[in-house]
Amino acid sequence: MKHISVLVKPASSLCNLRCKYCFYANVSSLREVRSYGKMTESVTEKMIEQIFIDLEDGDHLTLAFQGGEPTLAGLDYYRKVVACVKAQGKRVQVHYTIQTNGTLINERWCEFLKENEFLVGVSIDGHPEYHDLNRVDTKGTGTFQRIILTKELFDRYQIDYNVLCTLTNPLGKEAKKVWQFLQKHKIQYVQFIPCLDDLDTQTRSSYALTPKRFFGFYRQLLSSWLAELEKGNYISVKLFDDLLNLLVRKQVTACGILGSCQVQYVIEADGSVYPCDFYVLDEYRMGYIQESSLKELFNQDISKKFVCEKPALPEKCQSCPFKNICGGGCKRMKDAIYVDEKDYCGYQELLQLFLPKVNQILDALQNVQKGQAE
Ligand code: SF4
Ligand code: SF4
Repeated sequence: MKHISVLVKPASSLCNLRCKYCFYANVSSLREVRSYGKMTESVTEKMIEQIFIDLEDGDHLTLAFQGGEPTLAGLDYYRKVVACVKAQGKRVQVHYTIQTNGTLINERWCEFLKENEFLVGVSIDGHPEYHDLNRVDTKGTGTFQRIILTKELFDRYQIDYNVLCTLTNPLGKEAKKVWQFLQKHKIQYVQFIPCLDDLDTQTRSSYALTPKRFFGFYRQLLSSWLAELEKGNYISVKLFDDLLNLLVRKQVTACGILGSCQVQYVIEADGSVYPCDFYVLDEYRMGYIQESSLKELFNQDISKKFVCEKPALPEKCQSCPFKNICGGGCKRMKDAIYVDEKDYCGYQELLQLFLPKVNQILDALQNVQKGQAE
């Protein structure tokens, strides 16, 4: 049984917001074609057919939709996808996910997402003030109030969702505020996404996370999280889950966590395929899904080149006690999380703090599970 994941951008880089730190606006500005518009019906049909070529009965497929803003493709686009999947006639377990800014979601969307068991990632930046500072619409107006209404709609429809919070450098100082926000809004699942500098930049932006801030944020968060966990209140924090999966269950649940790239199959609206969401650039185009199966795309020289090309490890990594469980981490995140110019590594600090607490965390998690079972 295999599990294949594909990331689809049905509305390319189109977006109805103008978030100040948007990484995909930067990536797409470096291509010949900034936006491929919306995916057509014929590309959609062919894409699903081609993905299914490599699948057999009993396999799992995750179709993750992302943007830009993927809801701009319209509800009918997703109805078409679901219909195409059903028409394939193989007993493949399909998991749908969508990552949205939440501004275009209404009751009709909720009915569809619930009916088709979509797991939704909704972007909320951990605190109204910080959210409205950066996540603005075309008029420059903050979107927090609109998103909170969407979150309430998801709660009402009992849609599974996690909150995606972009961890900017300023927000990195506010772990306490973020924690209080998560508790106040009864958020069960959260993933902090490190805010990165532009790919082509020479100077650091004020938004981009630094390894020091990364560690400062997680040190405070871990302390609040563990204190609540010991009281029986559990919130899933993606990085803590990934660390437990790696250290305890020996499972890799985050790309780059062992220091190597994986081919992610990112499909743009015109059907072009790329190895990683951070590198949807002309020079990394592996081919077109209309013309090749995933296996054929995987075997392209460009995919192998992407996976193998890695900056030389800093000196600090050579003598690091965690080298074998980190390997220098994700190459795109290196300036945000790992070794900085002063030889400080935020991730090493976090591992040093986290590792001795693993048994304490596992005991507390077990108690929470027992409490839920009673
Ligand atoms: S750059 Fe990072 S996220 Fe992209 S494939 Fe490599 S490790 Fe994964
Ligand atoms: S934890 Fe930091 S210093 Fe250690 S191997 Fe990873 S990136 Fe290098």
